Amino acid sequence: MAADRMTSEVAGLLDSPEAARVGAVLVIDLAALTANWRDMAARAPGAECAAVVKANGYGLGDVAVASALWKAGARSFFVADIEAGVRVKTALPASRTIVLHGVPAGTEAELAARDLVPVLSSLAETERWGAQARLLGRKLPAFIHIDTGMNRLGLPPIELDRLCNDPVNLLAGIDLQAWMSHLACADDPDNPFTAEQLRRVRMALARLPKAPVSLSNSGGIFHGADYHFDLVRPGIALYGANPAPWLPNPMRPVIRLLARILQVRDVAPPDTVGYDATHRITAPGTVAALGMGYADGYPWALAGKGMAMVGGYAVPLIGRVSMDLLTADVTGVPEHLLQVGGWADIIGPHRDVDQVAREAGTIGYEILTRLGSRYHRAYVGG
Ligand SMILES: *Cc1c(COP(=O)(O)O)cnc(C)c1O
Repeated sequence: MAADRMTSEVAGLLDSPEAARVGAVLVIDLAALTANWRDMAARAPGAECAAVVKANGYGLGDVAVASALWKAGARSFFVADIEAGVRVKTALPASRTIVLHGVPAGTEAELAARDLVPVLSSLAETERWGAQARLLGRKLPAFIHIDTGMNRLGLPPIELDRLCNDPVNLLAGIDLQAWMSHLACADDPDNPFTAEQLRRVRMALARLPKAPVSLSNSGGIFHGADYHFDLVRPGIALYGANPAPWLPNPMRPVIRLLARILQVRDVAPPDTVGYDATHRITAPGTVAALGMGYADGYPWALAGKGMAMVGGYAVPLIGRVSMDLLTADVTGVPEHLLQVGGWADIIGPHRDVDQVAREAGTIGYEILTRLGSRYHRAYVGG
């Protein structure tokens, strides 16, 4: 995130009435987000670059994220369910909003009326969507997901065979917008399964009617032109986490998370800090209480791990993670930088999403998508 923007724009945001009412502020840099989308688009030059905004835009706000990317030129957005699909499509009526979970029975009329595009994962689902099309007397748009080994969603091989043998009937009523599959191991450059999935995609395509093709998520885009086809589906890369862990992170950081300093106190041995008295004070010092905790999606597993930044000083986070509080050892931070009502950086240039994930024994995806609902989400660079 550009340092100038973070200093000027963020300082103003932290002084705002919205920030005054909450314990922590999530700053989201829409200029970095759109730069990341353009970066992904440039890495797959022949393909349309969609944007995956499921799970509330990986925690950053799906409508805000999709709207910023729309302005940058993105036209297709993937969400998980109809609830999110309606939200995005209402905000961006001219967008193509694609619902990864498909068409649950009973939702056909709403999906069609809302002009959402389901990803169909079985012949039964395809048949139901085709029946809805006949009912309405028009074709209905869909992606069709072909499973190439993940065994999660998508037509299994036996249904693929049936489709290849009778595509005209089985696709009746369907405006087929793309064949789609999904890579299981795209974030591991050495896993031969990725090339095997590409081989299976090509075998399937050779037997199917022609339509655009979509295979790659963020990581897949880094596997080269063979993986790009007609449409790529980056998610995590847009939000600044490293989509290609074998490289230094090529993406721009998008989020910065700041917690309010609620109280500052002097401590000395034999004091302890926090629940279960796990953190023992070994020398006289200073402790600050910060206004966020595990109820905001900050993992409880991060007890005693990681650093915050206060006034340019790196300070260790100590003791248990509480529901609404963190504690930091701010010993040595000059008093004029350590004001109640001031702010501590929890995620930011000093400690990115991937670093927090490593400390917590999880992945950047989980850290992002758990970012809580209590934060004031402040958008900059829009
Ligand atoms: C989540 C998802 C993506 C995006 O994956 P990233 O690894 O976040 O880029 C793409 N396609 C499908 C089917 C997905 O479920």
